[in-house]
Amino acid sequence: MIPLVKPFIPPREVLIPELEKILYSGYIATGQAVDDFENDFKRYIGNQDMLSLHSGTDALHIAFILAGVKPGDEVISTPMTAEPTNTAIAMMGAKVVWGDVDPRNGLLDPESIKNLITEKTKAIVFVDYAGMVGDIAGFRKISEETGVPFIEDAAHALGSKFDGKMTGCNAPYTVFSLQAIKHLTTVDGGFLAMQNNEELDRARKLRWFGLDKKRSRLENDITEVGYKYAMNNVNATIGLVQMQYIEENVGRYIANGKYYDNELANVDGVTLPYYYPGAEASYWLYTMKVERRNEFIKMMEANGVAASPLHHRSDTHSIFKESRRELPGMEEWYSSFVHIPCGWWVTEEDRCKIVEQIKKGW
Ligand SMILES: *Cc1c(COP(=O)(O)O)cnc(C)c1O
Repeated sequence: MIPLVKPFIPPREVLIPELEKILYSGYIATGQAVDDFENDFKRYIGNQDMLSLHSGTDALHIAFILAGVKPGDEVISTPMTAEPTNTAIAMMGAKVVWGDVDPRNGLLDPESIKNLITEKTKAIVFVDYAGMVGDIAGFRKISEETGVPFIEDAAHALGSKFDGKMTGCNAPYTVFSLQAIKHLTTVDGGFLAMQNNEELDRARKLRWFGLDKKRSRLENDITEVGYKYAMNNVNATIGLVQMQYIEENVGRYIANGKYYDNELANVDGVTLPYYYPGAEASYWLYTMKVERRNEFIKMMEANGVAASPLHHRSDTHSIFKESRRELPGMEEWYSSFVHIPCGWWVTEEDRCKIVEQIKKGW
């Protein structure tokens, strides 16, 4: 079966000698390898104001703190995402307020949130779901009008762009995940990208118990609670090796995605997603709407190709029951969207077969 997701691990002969070196170096905690990886990743994104972290969830947590979210505040979010986006809001003691999604692509619709902003709203978080880029222009406008910052959860969207600029340069806060099945994995890891470098020092302290790593421990005074969110040298060493493959791997997701965009555009029973002007997806999963979804999934699986909606809508979890509301865009989207494999492991031959299979109908 061609899977929907698959970790990319660099070739043994390249990765293992580097891992062996770091494991027996005596320096496996946070050190030089982390600095080196951070620098490579910053160069790739084109933003210097970034912090490596132990996970994408850590990045969300720090972004919410920097945005000023406190217990009892409200954060506007999307139900169309993986769990961490919204459990991180709950972790803050804040209330999730559900915006609705654009039924054309499952992405949070800025129009749907205009009337939800109150004086308790401290942040808006949207997700570049499956690698499609959110309506940045729309969120910028709302943010300018209301002063509420937005957070771009780009865990699915490494290597995507908006108006020609890499994701990680386009929002006050951008969150990346380097978890197992994301575009680039360090086994676990994450990054927070910022636009205001005055917040960088505070973010750095939040990453490490509230301590200022530039001073000795004896001279330190913790003034704000921080966490243990730093990456370690072992994960960073994997990241450093992964950076040799990043352009090629992301390029393969994008080439496969564009191939499907062209080949599936006029197929009966398929509706392709709407991409916002200026958005260049990085196609973590290929996303579309299909008629008779269950039959579609069965047909694909019978032909050795995984197909699934993959994510469970977040708003139906019990912990969010006080936030429940009608979301017509979500209802429409959720009943017919599906993903097909699109990543680095999908060869030109595979994608050609997948398209032929879909064109035959189900
Ligand atoms: C993977 C993911 C995260 C962060 O996950 P970690 O496992 O903590 O790195 C955040 N948001 C979304 C949408 C994700 O898919």
